[in-house]
Amino acid sequence: MKKLNLYRDIVGEDIINQLKQLAEPLKGIKVVHVNSTKLGGGVAEILHKLLPLKEELGIKASWEVVTGESEFYNCTKNFHNGLQGNAVPVDQRLLRIYEQTNAENADRLREKLADADIVFIHDPQPAMLLHYIPERKGKWLWRCHIDASRPFRPIWKYLRSKVEGYDASIFSLADFAQHLPNTQYLILPSIDPLSEKNIELEEKEIDSICEKYNIDRERPMMSQISRFDRFKDPIGVIKAFKLAKKFTPGLQLVLAGGGATDDPEGEAVLNEVRAAADGDPDVNILLLPPDAHRIINAIQRASDIVLQKSVKEGFGLTVTEGMWKGKPLIGGDTGGIRLQVINHHTGFLVNSPEGAALRIRYLFNHRDKMIEIGNNAREFVRENFLITRHLREYLTLMLAMLHYQDKGRIELS
Ligand code: UDP
Repeated sequence: MKKLNLYRDIVGEDIINQLKQLAEPLKGIKVVHVNSTKLGGGVAEILHKLLPLKEELGIKASWEVVTGESEFYNCTKNFHNGLQGNAVPVDQRLLRIYEQTNAENADRLREKLADADIVFIHDPQPAMLLHYIPERKGKWLWRCHIDASRPFRPIWKYLRSKVEGYDASIFSLADFAQHLPNTQYLILPSIDPLSEKNIELEEKEIDSICEKYNIDRERPMMSQISRFDRFKDPIGVIKAFKLAKKFTPGLQLVLAGGGATDDPEGEAVLNEVRAAADGDPDVNILLLPPDAHRIINAIQRASDIVLQKSVKEGFGLTVTEGMWKGKPLIGGDTGGIRLQVINHHTGFLVNSPEGAALRIRYLFNHRDKMIEIGNNAREFVRENFLITRHLREYLTLMLAMLHYQDKGRIELS
């Protein structure tokens, strides 16, 4: 099915034509993306949507996943937490497991990766493949999706030595970029407005999903959709809810999320969240399977306000998703949320549960503002954070890597 043309109604004809023109010189090239999960989290979400569009434009795009034992994921979760600034242990034994796992995956993927014209390695999990595949034809790019603005130094020192050999690196925000010897590019993530997660839903479908999950559509409701991860601050959301409900009769909170297959901490955090909710019947904690896209879509659409109270956030696709549904966003004042939530225009940035509660109260007391800010949020996403813009930047980057990079340094932003 020709999917690209379906975006015409949303972004306009010119944008689609521009994508086709940009892809013309790239037809037939082999591009491989490598990450560590096909299920859960923003990276998988984006790759599922981007790859078919690249294919439709004539690029031979494929996606590989590195796999390992549980200790490998414990190690890479430490990397993730360390890049986001936590003082995590630097356990030499786990580092050896990380290296060994990458070596084994390199053996399995060598032929495919060595032969590709462009290889995108996402995040730290597969970062050492470069080291174990020295004979390679194409350009290799390390794509860091994590807020690495203030990394825990010992972790960054180790990882830096693994990623400095890439031909280029890509970060989501200038703030996250680290000193590296290669060219650095900035590309912001995006959402797909035609995916199950974001497509328009009929009211009756929203009603029936809400009924199934015990959400009362007659009462005010706010939600946060996230992996159960401490950086997403689900406990802070519950605190904000407890304060806000004193002023908003009947208020309900939905905290919905699942784990990612590469995230070993989810269960412990979920238990903490349940303890914080303390049996409050208006706090609805939903553990969702990884393919619950329409359910998430419906919950976001049924919300009056969408929250993403993270204390660290690479970008926050859930923010984009909520805004696309015309909801005012109350988001943590951090990372990529700052690029999306423009105070008083598309939502509010907050630094504490008390701050969040204040904004929740304001919005429920000013329904006209709730609608106005929600409409602004949707338009802001249309202009900046849809998959068509993202695809254009990837195409431009690939052109730069294959045709210009050796002839002179150019940088995109
Ligand atoms: N998501 C999901 N199920 C869940 C939790 C999250 O499908 O239980 C999706 C969510 O809708 C979003 C992505 O996973 O598309 C999370 O991306 P984000 O950038 O918000 O956070 P990350 O998990 O990458 O830190």
